[in-house]
Amino acid sequence: MYKINIITAFPEIFPGSLDVSILAKARKKKIWDLNIVDLKKYSSQNKSMDDKPFGGGPGMVIRADVLQNAYEKAKIFFEDYNFENVEKIMLTPDGEEFNHSIAEALTKKKGLLIICGRYEGVDERFIEYNNLRKISIGKYVLCGGESAASVISEAVLRLLPNVLGNEKSKLEESFVNGMLEYPHYTKPRVWNNLSVPEVLLSGNHKEIRKWRSEKALYLTKKVMKKNKKNDS
Ligand code: SAM
Repeated sequence: MYKINIITAFPEIFPGSLDVSILAKARKKKIWDLNIVDLKKYSSQNKSMDDKPFGGGPGMVIRADVLQNAYEKAKIFFEDYNFENVEKIMLTPDGEEFNHSIAEALTKKKGLLIICGRYEGVDERFIEYNNLRKISIGKYVLCGGESAASVISEAVLRLLPNVLGNEKSKLEESFVNGMLEYPHYTKPRVWNNLSVPEVLLSGNHKEIRKWRSEKALYLTKKVMKKNKKNDS
C-alpha cells in the first residue's frame, strides 16, 4: 500500500480533494492510505509552534524542535516500511519545481512524508538535519503548503496502478511524452453553433490519429511560447 503522511498546522484542510471520486475508491481498495499529523500538538508546554526570525524581519518561523517532534511521530506511520524508500518532502517556493516526471518517479517510492510550512516558513536547520527534498509547485507564493501537498499527492496517486478507471488514459495524457494532449469533444455534435471537427466523426482512425497528433503539437508549441513569455 502506498502511504502518504502530511505534517500540517491545519489538519482540517485534509483529506479534501484526496478523498473524492477515484482517489476515494482507491483508498477503499487499500491501494493507498493517508495520515495527517497535527503540528500544533507537538510544541513543548507553554511554547508556541513558531517564533520571531533571528536577524529580524516580518512574520514568524516554525520552530525546528516542534517540527522534529512531529516528524518523529510521523515516522511511526511507516514503521512496516524501510524509511529509505519514503520520499521526505519539504514544501517551499525555493525547491525544485514539481512536474510530471517527478510525479512518476515518486510512484516508485513506498510513500511520501510531506511537511507543510506556514507563515514565513520553517527553521532551515530542520530541513538540513533531516535531509529533506525541497519541492515547489510553481513560481508563486501560497499561504501554506497544504494545497501543494494535495497537488503532489493527487498527481502521484492517479499514476499508481489500478487507480484510474482506464489504465490507458495515463499513456496519452499531457506531459507523458513532453507534449500536451489533443482537445476533446462529445455530444451534442453542434453546440451554440460550434461543430465538432468533422474528422472525429469520420470513423477514419488513421486520420483521427493524425489530426490529434497535429493538434497536440500545435497546442504544445503555443503554450510553450506563452510560458516563455510569462517567465521573461
Ligand atoms: N517566506 C517564504 C518565501 O518568500 O519563499 C514564503 C512562505 S509561504 C507564505 C508559507 C509556506 O507555504 C511555505 O513554507 C511553504 O510550505 C508553502 N508554500 C508557499 N508557496 C509554495 C510553493 N510555490 N510551493 C510549495 N510550497 C509553497
